[in-house]
Amino acid sequence: MSFPEIQQANVSYETESRPKTHIVKAAHGFAFEVKKGEHFRVVDLYGEQVVDFAAWVQGTNLREKLSMAYTRFRLNGVTPAVGEYLWTNNDDPILKLVEDTVKVHDMTFMSCFPKMYEKEGRPGHRSCASNIAEAMEPHGMKDHLDVTDPFNIFQNTPNYSLKRLGSSKPGDYVEFEAMQDCICACSSCPYDAEGFNGGKITDIAIVTGVPAKA
Ligand SMILES: [Zn+2]
Repeated sequence: MSFPEIQQANVSYETESRPKTHIVKAAHGFAFEVKKGEHFRVVDLYGEQVVDFAAWVQGTNLREKLSMAYTRFRLNGVTPAVGEYLWTNNDDPILKLVEDTVKVHDMTFMSCFPKMYEKEGRPGHRSCASNIAEAMEPHGMKDHLDVTDPFNIFQNTPNYSLKRLGSSKPGDYVEFEAMQDCICACSSCPYDAEGFNGGKITDIAIVTGVPAKA
């Protein structure tokens, strides 16, 4: 997949860095660091793939983090519109939503977790909580119990309905601007029951160093 819009924008890009695309394997996780002011995208490459997303403020030993409870409070329970923020458990903006080609996301569900699959008779199944914990291990995370509630990007689950209502199409993305230096982690959600995630878990992409639009 190419990102012609990004490549064209390089002409006026004022710093040395260039957009960098990282493919996150289907049903796996990835962690990445972004600097304050940096823009990055979370891209659904093949459509209908939920991305569990979490973030921590650098230099806080993973204590200050993206909090969906604080975000729900600040946004009156409604997922952020373009120009609105995700908030930390210290009541500060951590990320600003600057583009969104889908506008359907979830901020009520936890990440799928190992015991959930165990109870469904599928022990050892990959989970978002474990994916994020694994990706965050180099940053000091011990295990999936340290994983915070996620912003579930591209997840269309009104009233806790876990069925195939996928709304994202191939190439859809959200773009954030970091309000602080932070460590982000994401997971290509491995939940594959009842056609969820389009019935087939797929790769996603993280693009860092995206030039801000003038
Ligand atoms: Zn999941």
